[in-house]
Amino acid sequence: MANLASRLEQALDRVRGLSEYRSLAAATIAPGGRLVRDGKSYLDFSSNDYLGLSQHPLLRQRASEWAELHGAGAGASRLVTGTSPFHLAVEARIAAFKGTEAALLFASGWQLNASVLPTLLKAAPAAAIFTDRLIHASLHHGCAAAGVREIRFRHNDLDHLEEVLDSHRAAPLRMIVTESVFSMDGDRADLDRLSAIARRHDAILYLDEAHATGVLGPRGAGLSATVPGAIDVVMGTFSKAFGGFGAYVAGSRALCDYLVNSCSSFIFSTALPPAVLGAIDAALDLVPTMDAERARLAGHGDRLRAALRAEGFDVGASTTQIQPVFTGTSERALAASRRLEEAGILASAIRPPTVPRGASRLRLALRSTHSDEDIDRLVATLVRELAPAA
Ligand SMILES: *Cc1c(COP(=O)(O)O)cnc(C)c1O
Repeated sequence: MANLASRLEQALDRVRGLSEYRSLAAATIAPGGRLVRDGKSYLDFSSNDYLGLSQHPLLRQRASEWAELHGAGAGASRLVTGTSPFHLAVEARIAAFKGTEAALLFASGWQLNASVLPTLLKAAPAAAIFTDRLIHASLHHGCAAAGVREIRFRHNDLDHLEEVLDSHRAAPLRMIVTESVFSMDGDRADLDRLSAIARRHDAILYLDEAHATGVLGPRGAGLSATVPGAIDVVMGTFSKAFGGFGAYVAGSRALCDYLVNSCSSFIFSTALPPAVLGAIDAALDLVPTMDAERARLAGHGDRLRAALRAEGFDVGASTTQIQPVFTGTSERALAASRRLEEAGILASAIRPPTVPRGASRLRLALRSTHSDEDIDRLVATLVRELAPAA
């Protein structure tokens, strides 16, 4: 035991030395894009609650209603005791929302990616898997769990993707894994071209829509909805713009049936509890009607980028509600985050291993519940505290 503790301390010291140490700070969510920490209210640009739905009365109400009606927990895996009709009904609604034949619920987006990828690859031994360099940790985890070596292509570089696809022509199955909106950069994949490439090379497309679901595409259905039928496997979470928890995979009936039969985290994990399901159901009522909020959110992104550009900041390739402000080193990202915090603004310092070394940054996550004045205050504070290389 003492031996383990000293090894853990050594590992932590190493992380501290790199300014990559992380710890949990107590905080509570407050309305209007605010967060309270140690009794102090902050303007918050660190959460992914893009439409403010985590605090919406309809979600709160339906979560408590469904808990009242159906209990606090689901009791078992859906295969063991039989599935509740509510799970099936919510899945049918998700499929309709995404415009797919079927959908399947999972406990979380992380769990889904980490388990669905290896399950799919089990059906296709010797498959070659092509991953964008900037995909989420859970997708890397899924590839590692499958024991496959990722063939990485340069971020959003579809010419490079075509090259690597060409050089692995002999593989019995080729799968491309990418995201519609990248979680740390806020830029988008070109799904028109990507789906044309997949068709031409007879490759499978696996798309993570964690940051697009609810925010982009027709009625907030994500960017996959802009290329109907072109993507084989689409996943997203209910933990971000949907304001709750849980995740979905959407695609063909055969895909979902196969996962029910083969995916360990579906088979051996307890079904989502009624309260969580109720919140998803309520969000499915609201999200398609929230075009005004989506337009506001997009407007905030444009306003922020225009102002930052005018002040000489490098805004990268973002076109969404996620905006990085690059600092280079971890130390500078941490120092920037602390200075903003002192000025009453929360923005996460993103450091390795979340992003490549040297690409540390502040990650600004905007919300439809922020006001124009909030965005202007953010810009003024960034300019005052970070003084970009002029
Ligand atoms: C947040 C995130 C996930 C994980 O989703 P959770 O439901 O929070 O576990 C997966 N993929 C990407 C790109 C994400 O940003």
